[in-house]
Amino acid sequence: MDFTFSDADEAFRREVREFFDGHLTPEMRDAAARVTTVFADKDLAMRWQQILADRGWAAPAWPEEFGGTGWSVTQKYIFAEESAKAGAPGLIPLGLRMLAPVLFRYGTPEQQQYYLPRILSGEHYWCQGYSEPGSGSDLSSLKTRADRDGDDYIVNGTKIWTTHAHFADHIFCLVRTDSSGRPQAGITFLLIPMNAPGITVEPIVTLAGDHEVNQVFFDDVRVPQANRVGPENEGWTVAKYLLEFERGGGGSAPRLEVALGELKAMAAREPQGQGSLLDEPAFRRRLAELEIRLQALAFSELATLARMSRGESPGAGSSLAKNTSVAIEQDLTTLKLEAIGYYGLPHANLISLNGANEAWVGADHAETVTARYLNARAASIFGGSQEVQKNIIAKAVLGL
Ligand SMILES: Cc1cc2nc3c(=O)[nH]c(=O)nc-3n(C[C@H](O)[C@H](O)[C@H](O)COP(=O)(O)OP(=O)(O)OC[C@H]3O[C@@H](n4cnc5c(N)ncnc54)[C@H](O)[C@@H]3O)c2cc1C
Repeated sequence: MDFTFSDADEAFRREVREFFDGHLTPEMRDAAARVTTVFADKDLAMRWQQILADRGWAAPAWPEEFGGTGWSVTQKYIFAEESAKAGAPGLIPLGLRMLAPVLFRYGTPEQQQYYLPRILSGEHYWCQGYSEPGSGSDLSSLKTRADRDGDDYIVNGTKIWTTHAHFADHIFCLVRTDSSGRPQAGITFLLIPMNAPGITVEPIVTLAGDHEVNQVFFDDVRVPQANRVGPENEGWTVAKYLLEFERGGGGSAPRLEVALGELKAMAAREPQGQGSLLDEPAFRRRLAELEIRLQALAFSELATLARMSRGESPGAGSSLAKNTSVAIEQDLTTLKLEAIGYYGLPHANLISLNGANEAWVGADHAETVTARYLNARAASIFGGSQEVQKNIIAKAVLGL
């Protein structure tokens, strides 16, 4: 197998690099390097999205007719790789990579025309209203109701763990429109503006000290039926399709490769005996194991990208990709935490989270490690827990 890039691909790589050099300011790179949460800070991410959108590069995976780039799989991979290497802020996937594919397949022409350009430009900022108290893994048991009233639905209930609901101006939501049959059969997929009267958002602060997630309450919220995606009571199919993209449509290997490089550089600066931690055989073995797993992930993500460029969805294999990349990310953040030793104590981390950088004691490279370690624990829960992904793999991939 030939893994070298063609001259044309290398020219494309230079074009991307030059663009990043010209547009990604040191201040943006620095802010991106300090992100310790799942999603980058909203203003930072949207600023970068705007810059990419102006160049026509905000949504490489979209069909060209809606504003995609028309790039080959290799070009998309090169772009992701160069973004990670340049330390570009991650784009928020909720609209670009989760809702958009749903609209391509299930949206009406009017919905496509209205929402897609606004997702691309960043004018609309979306959040995801799937989980409820008591309905997470068992999502189809959800109880938030939407009752018909003329041309509208009246929505009542609550959603929980809603990432960035405090920033979002729109929410895509699963609601119950029928309780008479199988739970999956009575679900509908709705698009709701967050400024609709009757919506309130309450913050939830996580173990890592971050405000990323929220609880959202709906009290007699009026939503036009025109905001429904797909037929009434068939939202479960739409919801599952979106989850394939949430779990496996992204490609996390380039970002993890950069993080692995950071870990090596960090270990080389941590004194150990006569040398550094990087010389320590047990540490090197764990590093090597991580690197091998990461290479395997990179190749399987390339295969997924290739399928997606042929118009296929990521499929149930996305559950495998999610579990693999999350396990690598958690092991990587664990090794980083071990590498910095005492400086990983949570109280030091809290000082840095509060912005009191002058109070930081220890090496600069240690500053965000604990916050990232804590935040990464959530990755095996959101988007469907790792146990639930294993159940899907057992059934849909292995046929057990
Ligand atoms: C940081 C973060 C961000 C999130 N963002 C969003 C968001 O933006 N929008 C949204 O809708 N949701 C969001 N979620 C919610 C997330 O999808 C749910 O937390 C997840 O699906 C698990 O549901 P639960 O919390 O109700 O746990 P439960 O379903 O109660 O699970 C508890 C435990 O039981 C295990 N378990 C449950 N069922 C089974 C089974 N059948 N077999 C084996 N083990 C099982 C689980 O793996 C887990 O370990 C977020 C969660 C987190 C932590």
